[in-house]
Amino acid sequence: MAVSTRRARKKLGGSYHTHAQVIETNQRADGSWDVVTKEGTIHAEHIVNAGGLWAREVGHLSGLNLPVQPMEHHYLITETIPEIAAREERLPAGIDYEGNIYFRQEGQGMLLGTYEPKATPWMVGGTPNNFGHELLEPQLDHIAERLELGFERIPALAEAGIKDMVNGPFTFGPDGNPMIGPVPGMRNYWAAVGVMAGFCQAGGVGKCLAEWMIDGEPEVDVWAMDIARFGDYASPDYGTIKSSENYERRFVMTFPNETLPKGRRMRTTALYDRLTAKGAVWGDGFGLESALWFADGPEDAHEEPTFRRSRAHDYVAREVKAVREAVGITEIANFAKHSITGPDARKFLDTIMAGRVPQPGRITLSPMLTAKGKLYGDLTIACYADDDIGKEAAMAERQAGPTIKLVTMTIDTDDIDVSNDEAILKDGECVGYVTSGGYAHHVQQSMALGYVPAELAADGTEPEDAQQPDSPLRIEGLPPVIRVLAKRAGAFVNAFRFRRASSPMPVRG
Ligand SMILES: Cc1cc2nc3c(=O)[nH]c(=O)nc-3n(C[C@H](O)[C@H](O)[C@H](O)COP(=O)(O)OP(=O)(O)OC[C@H]3O[C@@H](n4cnc5c(N)ncnc54)[C@H](O)[C@@H]3O)c2cc1C
Repeated sequence: MAVSTRRARKKLGGSYHTHAQVIETNQRADGSWDVVTKEGTIHAEHIVNAGGLWAREVGHLSGLNLPVQPMEHHYLITETIPEIAAREERLPAGIDYEGNIYFRQEGQGMLLGTYEPKATPWMVGGTPNNFGHELLEPQLDHIAERLELGFERIPALAEAGIKDMVNGPFTFGPDGNPMIGPVPGMRNYWAAVGVMAGFCQAGGVGKCLAEWMIDGEPEVDVWAMDIARFGDYASPDYGTIKSSENYERRFVMTFPNETLPKGRRMRTTALYDRLTAKGAVWGDGFGLESALWFADGPEDAHEEPTFRRSRAHDYVAREVKAVREAVGITEIANFAKHSITGPDARKFLDTIMAGRVPQPGRITLSPMLTAKGKLYGDLTIACYADDDIGKEAAMAERQAGPTIKLVTMTIDTDDIDVSNDEAILKDGECVGYVTSGGYAHHVQQSMALGYVPAELAADGTEPEDAQQPDSPLRIEGLPPVIRVLAKRAGAFVNAFRFRRASSPMPVRG
């Protein structure tokens, strides 16, 4: 890393300093920064907080309170295992989701690690300046149960002696994903923090951040890593609570209908108690509780995590029927609302929105595009005008034809609906991901939306993966259609969650 940085510096210019502790970051009126070190001050247009274990402390220098938390983590390395020494090829790395352990070959022995059932946040008050990435005292009792399970799963491990037991801290964000990108509300301040699996993720994080800073946006959709997915509600305490929850659930399946219990009720609306009394089952988004569906009463208001249609199914059918045949009301406090007023309000909307403006008094959905013409947001506005940002690029893309298209799919299934992120398979290859889906009560059909390559989006595209005839879900299209398979094994969904977040988000074809 240091060598490649030195080479890049030589080739491209710039300067590179190691062991230079930053003690102040002071912003000038023009938005640039004075980065003060003990060795001197560096004037920088932009700064990136990639402080890792010290991300919180580096943030404080600029008045930023990041919701990240280092957690203690253990793994052990065994002595030589004869069966491994006798092999010519390396063993593959593995994860046992049920046992919450991971393992890989290390020399001629094995490395076995686990995410403990009870997390141990490290240095909640802050990482000391003089901490030098030393290892911590192992807490064997924290992991004994998991190790026993590991030895049961891989008996050869139990025979081998333990060469090394490692306990070290690494930093988590509230949902376990890195937090990268421009920090909302700050100018020329970027984050690359909460990178909990730095060996695996650092390359991707660095690439995305560099593209973002140079080109204005990363090549792929990085919403799952974008620091903007958290707001003011995500305090340092929230970071500690949620990071602990995430650590403990590292290998635990989260079902599509499951909401996680920690860090809840950060914000509620004035109707919270009344809706609870009516049997609301609550979910949370951006720190705000919102009613997902209504059971018969508070005692009945619970969900059972499942991939299959859940106990909510019949209750939602009842709600759909009521709204279609009579009347219903919904609280939409979980939609962000912006009031844009003043003489230049229309001009401002003209600049940031891409949709057509309705007449005053009318309401319309309007896309917000990035400079490269990609979909950035979808807003309902009462006033709109031709937009500037991204329009040209979007028009050029329309002219050239989209590379991927949104398709509507019906799913031939008895009781397992898709929700989001499931892979769409064609001839054994993943060709796209489900963006949303569920059971459509009125037409009584399981349905999904997803992006697939444009050439596969035509009606009657033939057909699904013949090698997996038993796959539980078959997605068959309505026009425009594609016939594909969606495989819904839990581990598969988990494995693709991150990849899906990295897929490009195109303008709707
Ligand atoms: C026991 C253990 C096992 C792990 N196993 C794996 C694994 O198998 N796979 C994997 O991918 N990851 C693993 N990790 C995690 C990995 O080590 C981290 O994700 C990675 O180190 C994070 O890198 P980083 O650059 O974000 O932060 P850090 O490594 O913490 O680096 C932060 C840097 O910022 C510098 N800094 C801080 N404050 C200042 C300041 N004020 N001025 C100037 N410089 C400053 C520090 O000196 C440091 O160099 C493991 C970690 C542990 C502890």
